[in-house]
Amino acid sequence: MRPTGRLHLGHLVGALQNWVALEREYDCYYFVADWHALTSHYASTGDIVSDALDNVADWIAAGVDPEQSTLFVQSMVPEHAELYLLLQMVTPISWLERVPTYKEQMEQLAEKDLSNLGFLGYPLLQTADVIIYDAHCVPVGEDQVPHLELSREVVRRFHNFFGDVFVEPQALLTPTPRLPGLDNRKMSKSYGNTIDLADTAEDVVKKVRQMYTDPKRVRADIPGTVEGNPVFVYHDAFNPDRAEVDDLKARYRAGTVGDVEVKLKLAAAVNAMLDPLRERRAQALARPGYLRDVLVEGSRKAQRVAQETMARVRAAVKLDY
Ligand code: AMP
Repeated sequence: MRPTGRLHLGHLVGALQNWVALEREYDCYYFVADWHALTSHYASTGDIVSDALDNVADWIAAGVDPEQSTLFVQSMVPEHAELYLLLQMVTPISWLERVPTYKEQMEQLAEKDLSNLGFLGYPLLQTADVIIYDAHCVPVGEDQVPHLELSREVVRRFHNFFGDVFVEPQALLTPTPRLPGLDNRKMSKSYGNTIDLADTAEDVVKKVRQMYTDPKRVRADIPGTVEGNPVFVYHDAFNPDRAEVDDLKARYRAGTVGDVEVKLKLAAAVNAMLDPLRERRAQALARPGYLRDVLVEGSRKAQRVAQETMARVRAAVKLDY
C-alpha cells in the first residue's frame, strides 16, 4: 500500500481482509510502497514516513499480525530497485503505456504532472516488488489486476531471454474487489470520496448521509434499484445482520422505506465494524517506536530473501562477477 494518506474502507474490504485471511496459510510479505508514493507525490514527500506509520497501525488494527507476516518498507530493501532496472531492459514501453490505470489516472488527476518516467514505470516496479519474493498470490483490489497481467508478461519475456527464474504471480481478490466511494466512483483518496478507517462515528454518519443512491428515487414511495446501488453494496459488505439487509432491500424495491432509514442503519453497521479497529489503531499509534521496530526488523528479513533472489537473477543475466 502506498503511504499517501489515511487508509479507507476500500483498502479494508479490497485488500486488508485478505491479508489477514492469508496469514495462517501462507508466508506473507506486506509492505509500505514508499517509492510508489513518490511516483505521483514527488512534489510533497514530507508526510510519507508519518503516513507509513499511520497505515501500518491500520494494518495491525485490521488484524494483520507482525509476528506471523513480514511487514516492511520498500525503500529499505533497495534490491527492488536493482530488479526493476533489469526488468526495464526487456520491457517494451508500449506495454506500460497501455496499462489502463496509467491512462485513467492521467485523465482523472489532470491537475498533477504525471509525465515523469517513474509514474509510467509504476507497474514494472510493482512487478519487481512481487517477483523478488517468488510470490504466487497477490491480495489486491480489482484495479491492480491489469498490473499483475503485465507482471506475468514481463516474467515470461525475461524467461525467454535468461531462462526461468521467477514465479508468475496471480491476483487474489476479495468478494468486494472494487468498493465504490460516496459518489459512486471507485473509493479513492485522490477523489475525496472515502470513509477512512480513522473517521469518527460522527464522521461516518455524516458521510453515509451524503452517499449517492438511486438518482431516480426522488421520494421514499418510489420503488428503487438495489443492484449496483452503493448503499446496498455497503450493506452487503459491512452489515452482518442479513435479515435486516434483506428486509431493507425488499422495502427499497417496493418503495416502502426512506433513504434516511437505510443510511442510518448502514452507518450504525459501519461504526459497529470500525469500533474495535479504532481501539486497536489508537493502541498501535501510541507505540510509534514499536511500529518502527516492526518495519526495521521486517525489512531486514525481506532483504535477506531479496538478496537470495538477486543472486539468482544476476547469475541468469550473466552478471555474476
Ligand atoms: P493504493 O491506495 O492504490 O496503494 O491501494 C492499496 C490496495 O488497496 C490495492 O490492493 C488496491 O487495489 C486496494 N484498493 C484501493 N482502493 C480500493 C477500493 N476502492 N476497492 C477495493 N480495493 C481498493
